[in-house]
Amino acid sequence: MVYTIRTLPDDCLRKVAEPLERITDEVRKLSADMVETMYAARGVGLAANQIGVSLRLITIDTSSEKEGHPLIVVNPEIVEAQSEVSAEEGCLSVPGFYEMVKRAERVIVRAQNLEGEDLTIECAGLLARVFQHEIDHLNGVLFVDHLSPVKKGLFKKEYLRDRR
Ligand code: ZN
Repeated sequence: MVYTIRTLPDDCLRKVAEPLERITDEVRKLSADMVETMYAARGVGLAANQIGVSLRLITIDTSSEKEGHPLIVVNPEIVEAQSEVSAEEGCLSVPGFYEMVKRAERVIVRAQNLEGEDLTIECAGLLARVFQHEIDHLNGVLFVDHLSPVKKGLFKKEYLRDRR
């Protein structure tokens, strides 16, 4: 099932998502729906609170082919971050807005998979960026929060004005 993706200023995007304690059939169904929703929107990542579910669950697929091998991770956290790099970012919850954002170039992520097994994922480049972006979502943070005060001001004027 393809969900409607919540967009700013939806309150759900600003809530800190709850840890996922148990992987139930419902969670497995939810994650399959998230993958479907992510592909339908041509996104590279999706956090559960973007579809209105306040749980620490994300899906990612940074392959250009969209081969159907998405990463589905539970309770992800960044345990190490190295170097900084700027790149243009956008967000399915902030449609039509793109801006340069500085992020760590390499990260180590700890998480669990849907089998409840512990994962340690070391990555760099786009995948590292998407992990940081999606984990931000779980903490109620959006990429526009990383902009300079001037750019944030411009964003509020242009984007939020049209959506009040
Ligand atoms: Zn996003």
